[in-house]
Amino acid sequence: MKAIVLFGSPGSGKGTQAKMLTQCLGIPHVSTGDMLRERIRHVAERGNGITPEKAARMAAKMHSGALVSDQVVNQMVEERLSDPDATDGFVLDGYPRTLAQAEHLDHWLDGRGTREVVIHLAVDYNIIIARLTGRRQCTRCGTLYNMASQPPREDTLCDKDGTALVIRDDDSEPVIRQRLEAYERQTRPVLEYYASVNRRVVMVDGSNDPPEAVFRKICQALETDDCQEDGRGTGEDAP
Ligand SMILES: [Zn+2]
Repeated sequence: MKAIVLFGSPGSGKGTQAKMLTQCLGIPHVSTGDMLRERIRHVAERGNGITPEKAARMAAKMHSGALVSDQVVNQMVEERLSDPDATDGFVLDGYPRTLAQAEHLDHWLDGRGTREVVIHLAVDYNIIIARLTGRRQCTRCGTLYNMASQPPREDTLCDKDGTALVIRDDDSEPVIRQRLEAYERQTRPVLEYYASVNRRVVMVDGSNDPPEAVFRKICQALETDDCQEDGRGTGEDAP
């Protein structure tokens, strides 16, 4: 069983790496953020006046630990990891977030005779801020652009409808700094815990490389042969 715990700050590209890992290893991506959002969406669909926006905000708040107890999250994750598709392993994303959750996971894995491998995707915060503050959104159709990596064809206008693009509140530098600080506060004790109990903590620097190169580093660290490149590459903007 491959029990992988993936850590990465907002803007680190963790979602992309999780997707690539699950694809090449054939194990599910277990994201507590997604699970909570899904649950709230179900509640919202029953028609009690909760809009999708409100549901998303609730999920974010729940996920940050403000509204859900360790016990509830532990149980939710345990149920998910017991699903048949997770028998060979899983990539955990957003969990564990607290020491109590980390200990719970240890115990659960002990019972299955396995241990987690922790991947810490580290990206320089200045680079993250540059990435995220480059995001622009069309106020009419919602399309997202990035002035650095996916700029619109014309200056700051939407390709689809020519509407002026704006910076979302979430992408302003003070908000991003707050999110990074919150991540740091929450994650550091959990990473220290893993180091103290001698789990394998693999630090991967994702600051300057394209996603494919970061992914190769992760695969090397995992010493897995399942992730061999097929030689095609993904055509990420070669210079
Ligand atoms: Zn548009």
